[in-house]
Amino acid sequence: MIRIIREGRTTHHEEFSLDFKGYSFPCDFRGKLLPLGPEAQKNFDKQTGQPEFVERYWSEYEYPIAECYCGAEIELRPDQEGLCYCYCGKCFNSAGQSIRPRSEWEENY
Ligand SMILES: [Zn+2]
Repeated sequence: MIRIIREGRTTHHEEFSLDFKGYSFPCDFRGKLLPLGPEAQKNFDKQTGQPEFVERYWSEYEYPIAECYCGAEIELRPDQEGLCYCYCGKCFNSAGQSIRPRSEWEENY
């Protein structure tokens, strides 16, 4: 089994914006506009009417990072077969256990 450098984790993100028709401006959770670049500020000043306060929340799974026997850091992101390959050709499952690459599997069972 190879060394896990960082366990897999779920990160949570949140983003808030003030949306006018066709324009979206970043703001904080209270609806206070964040500092804008000059162009964005110009666009913002042109807007009329009440913006809509939009909240977006999402989560993302980050796959574990492990150190392969060859020294390379690899992301244990399994393919459709549940296998993770390093550049060196070694093959692991998503827990970092060494697995023989499918091409070497014998079909005698
Ligand atoms: Zn490797």
